Amino acid sequence: MNRLDFIRTISSATLATGLPFPMWAAERVFRASFSGMFKEMAKDDDFVIKDIDTYMLRKALFVSVELNNGIKGWAEAMPNDKRSSRTLIDRTLKNYFEGTNIFDVEKPWDHCIKSEYDLGPGGLLTYSISGIDCAIYDAMGKATQKPVYELLGGKLRDSVEIYASFTRDVYPTPEKAATKAKQLVEEGYKTMKFRMRWGLENMDAPNDNTIDFAKALRAAIGSDIRLAMDANMGHSEQRAIQLGKELEAFDLAWWEEPTAPYDYDAIKSIVEQVDIPIVFGEHAYTVEQIKHLLTYGGSWAVNPDLLKCGGFTGGKRIGDYIAQHNVKLVAHNSRPSLSTVCMLHWACATEMATLPQEFALREKAPGAFDCLTGFPEFKNGRLYITDRPGLGVEVDEDQVRAYDKKYTR
Ligand SMILES: [Mg+2]
Repeated sequence: MNRLDFIRTISSATLATGLPFPMWAAERVFRASFSGMFKEMAKDDDFVIKDIDTYMLRKALFVSVELNNGIKGWAEAMPNDKRSSRTLIDRTLKNYFEGTNIFDVEKPWDHCIKSEYDLGPGGLLTYSISGIDCAIYDAMGKATQKPVYELLGGKLRDSVEIYASFTRDVYPTPEKAATKAKQLVEEGYKTMKFRMRWGLENMDAPNDNTIDFAKALRAAIGSDIRLAMDANMGHSEQRAIQLGKELEAFDLAWWEEPTAPYDYDAIKSIVEQVDIPIVFGEHAYTVEQIKHLLTYGGSWAVNPDLLKCGGFTGGKRIGDYIAQHNVKLVAHNSRPSLSTVCMLHWACATEMATLPQEFALREKAPGAFDCLTGFPEFKNGRLYITDRPGLGVEVDEDQVRAYDKKYTR
């Protein structure tokens, strides 16, 4: 019996006796007292989740899911606020999953998302559950000796083009950005995206030098390399249209989030008036939010992020939805290590993932790559998937624990 069955059983039993004992109270009892007991009862099932743990790296939050048979699945959660994500996983979310069979993952996933809806559904809730869900898929693959893409419906492609994603924070002048762009071309990238990182808090910044960056980047990489730019929500509708018309001269592959992701009227107006493919979606965390974005705003392609949309379970549902609407996926992926491997399995198994997918460069996750072996091969701008079980990478648990000790304060 898992957590959900327990709560339903208690509720229906007490209803039959006429004593009030609502579901929320049964849930609290489960959390407080019985989860350990049911984990004990389920101990004979090899594929039951025994333990979920979190590990703090410098700029990442790794998650492990350990089964009764000792198999461990690994992934990472979105680390915007990794201490809060760790607390949420440790104190609340793990209770939905521990004691359940990994092959029933959608049942506790749905129950958790719906029960804890007030904590999300976008933001910390889905940022955190993503780490658990992806680690469960890694464990599922290891348990069945199948790569994760097979569990997602099978491989549609052997490799995926990735685009190099770099940012004004690190390369703050057009000259520095241009030098980095040239280096990325030499490394083999055929597509790159430069993030202006304005943010909602700097909308229509007076020092906006987007055009200077576009000019320098295009001059540095020539006309054969695809260049995308990301406004990171930095403009009002009026300013985005004005700037977008100026950017048309630089043959952008796409322009990302020129305005607030929830202002569907503004998005629609920009899509209609600017002759550049417009992309939104990294702030759409559920199928419903993607649906609203496409219905009311419009977007040339969508860029949901596996670590923001609930892991493979959420990503699979979004992939199926956009396939029905012929919208392409240009996956957002701001975490370069384990998240990239998850994204690769997702993109290889998702029909509409025919565009380049994001890679945020190794420099964004210091230390994380020290903990991994078997990272997919990068060649000519593409990542190549392997048929190794699970995600196909090995995690050095001793190294992860050493970092956790160092970065947990
Ligand atoms: Mg973006």
